[in-house]
Amino acid sequence: MTPLGDLIARRIAADGPITVADYMTDCLLHPAHGYYMTRDPLGAAGDFTTAPEISQIFGELIGLALAQAWIEQGRPAPFALAELGPGRGTLMADMLRASRAVPGFHDALRVHLVEASPALRARQAAALSGHDPAWHDSVEGLAGMPLFLVANEFFDALPVRQFLRANDAWRERVIGLRDGALAFGLAAPAPFAALADRLADTAEGDLVELRAAADPVMAALGARIDAHGGAALIVDYGDWGSRGDTLQAVRGHDHVDPLAEPGAADLTAHVDFRALARSAGVPVAGPVHQGVLLERLGATARARALARGLAGDALESHVAAHRRLTHPAEMGTLFKAIALHPPDTPPPPGFAS
Ligand code: SAH
Repeated sequence: MTPLGDLIARRIAADGPITVADYMTDCLLHPAHGYYMTRDPLGAAGDFTTAPEISQIFGELIGLALAQAWIEQGRPAPFALAELGPGRGTLMADMLRASRAVPGFHDALRVHLVEASPALRARQAAALSGHDPAWHDSVEGLAGMPLFLVANEFFDALPVRQFLRANDAWRERVIGLRDGALAFGLAAPAPFAALADRLADTAEGDLVELRAAADPVMAALGARIDAHGGAALIVDYGDWGSRGDTLQAVRGHDHVDPLAEPGAADLTAHVDFRALARSAGVPVAGPVHQGVLLERLGATARARALARGLAGDALESHVAAHRRLTHPAEMGTLFKAIALHPPDTPPPPGFAS
């Protein structure tokens, strides 16, 4: 058991079983032992990789889509170019580089980053030197100005609670102790107001996930976009509606038991885009499959242009990276995107209205 596992086990022994959400929060964000707080988990040498780490095409196209939305909204100045959970800062760096040629964009923007991890803030500072980013602990810190924002693989890291349908009530999945080791269990059946609408589209024994922490984030983004203009592109793995147990732990690019190494493995659950959209309070376009979105934004043309300067292994891995981002058998359909936009403006490019 990891040091964090011992802490959690002692807490359960004293106070009783904890929810999956409490477990995720401790595993990811515990100040001393949390997975994101202590390390850079990304890249080939880390535990998992993400679209911006796979190819610069991803950040370039997203950056240009946001720049186009900014132009269509009358080039407001100043505005916030913002990101939730920027990881190594690669996505923001690619967005900034690709948008350099957009007249007035860089003069008007100020980079704002929402990041919990001190280790990753340091990586972001290095990747974005010269752009003077401002860091925030939460979206509440984002200034009241037009907001053009991206969040890639941010919401999947926010904690979920899990509930098993039992007649017309729900049994919450909890984590307790069995023979001294962490083990899943089920709380007693109880009605649960936030799941009242799920009685209509679930059956006995179905499991649903609720991500309460996402609601205030979405509401805050929507309120800023409604009041000041802007757009928010949210990309993640998941679906429209939540169904089934999607809690997963990844370490060294392999799936591991979510209870085996608390704090030492990444822990995520699929994103319910329907739930995100409901909390936004502004129009939401999509979901669009990541592969479709990137191709609509010009991924193939960009990939061809980049390929012209490459040969041998570099060319092969470039072609593989484009395929990985867009092909339905890879990230193309598992990953989806939605876009928040003001009521009186069309969705950003790539999102049919
Ligand atoms: N967007 C990046 C990194 C994804 S990993 C990429 O695509 O490569 C998830 C990111 O969200 C990390 O930067 C992590 O530290 C951050 N994060 C996770 N939970 C957070 C929270 N509650 N508040 C702020 N940042 C969080």
